[in-house]
Amino acid sequence: MAKKTILVTGGAGFIGSTFVRLLLKKYPDYRIIVYDALTYAGSVENFPPGVFSLDRFEFIYANVCSTAQATAAVSQADIIVHFAAETHVTRSIYDASDFWQTDVIGTATLAAAAVQNAHKIERFVHISTSEVYGTCRPELDMMDEEHPLEPRSPYASAKTGADRIIYSYFQTYGLPAVIVRPFNNYGPHQHLEKAIPRFITSALLDEPLTVHGDGRSSRDWVYVDDTCEAIDVIMHAPVAQIAGEVFNIATFEDASVLDIARQILKIAHKPETLIQFSGDRPGQVIKHKGDASKIKRVLGWAAQVTLEDGLARTFKWYAENEAFWRRMLWMAKTKINTGRQLEWH
Ligand code: NAD
Repeated sequence: MAKKTILVTGGAGFIGSTFVRLLLKKYPDYRIIVYDALTYAGSVENFPPGVFSLDRFEFIYANVCSTAQATAAVSQADIIVHFAAETHVTRSIYDASDFWQTDVIGTATLAAAAVQNAHKIERFVHISTSEVYGTCRPELDMMDEEHPLEPRSPYASAKTGADRIIYSYFQTYGLPAVIVRPFNNYGPHQHLEKAIPRFITSALLDEPLTVHGDGRSSRDWVYVDDTCEAIDVIMHAPVAQIAGEVFNIATFEDASVLDIARQILKIAHKPETLIQFSGDRPGQVIKHKGDASKIKRVLGWAAQVTLEDGLARTFKWYAENEAFWRRMLWMAKTKINTGRQLEWH
């Protein structure tokens, strides 16, 4: 495998750090630069122990909205994988300003740095989201890449803006970009503000599992390792096959939030009486079920981890890594940099 430098923005977050761990393990010749502002959602503790002593690993503490820093980092890279974003729907409902900045302006800044830099970027892998589709059209069973873009939250609309900015940079400037739309990810290292880790830690603590509305809204749950394998495949496919394309990362299946809460309680051997219902979240997506036929047809990728297996693995990780989430709970209780977002998943 030829030596390459991969610039991973947002690499200290949940999916980004899982992807960095995959790169470190699978590609001993690659140089990896993580570019991250370490917001409340990112932590250097998400990297494997000893990583800072590796010559081929570099960490740049910087904001994607900084033209100077983005340009300097991009000039070293062959491939950019852009994860950095504000990602929590509920936070975006309370205050969307960081979402417009990071998700929209930050993406535009990075794309501009990629095309303006004399150094030629081989490819730009943009991590978008299935949230750009909004809720599945009633006449459809699943959402493929042609589903209309109908974002329902400020987070989703910021990510839609970013998604289309990247597409326009492909069309206008020939940026060799590919747009990836993962459905709901879960797995180790995810922040407690998201439903599955919150349910798991609540079950471990014998605390109520709070479900929005009647809990019937459904999601296509993708285990994070599957997502990172898909990104790896996309990163190594011939560029002509992927430039300007959009790929869903999904499992073809959905499960309701209530069903997820029940499955977690079953794994934890805890009673369903722990489930409580709260008011629905405004702009709620009712149904998310992804059609991943395109990535299977073009690149041969399909999700490998079943929901049952993924939930069991995730539960085990949180049970064994209490220090990871105790720190987050403490920060939430003391209101350090978290506000009230933990009230809603
Ligand atoms: P996360 O919130 O766990 O991590 C985001 C990372 O970005 C953090 O390390 C944070 O410090 C960094 N960051 C935030 N603002 C930054 C800025 N201005 N400059 C530099 N770094 C900044 O997010 P995640 O769940 O790992 O999601 C990663 C990407 O995948 C995001 O683009 C998200 O929209 C997308 N996505 C996530 C999911 C999911 O279910 N988690 C699903 C589909 C798509």
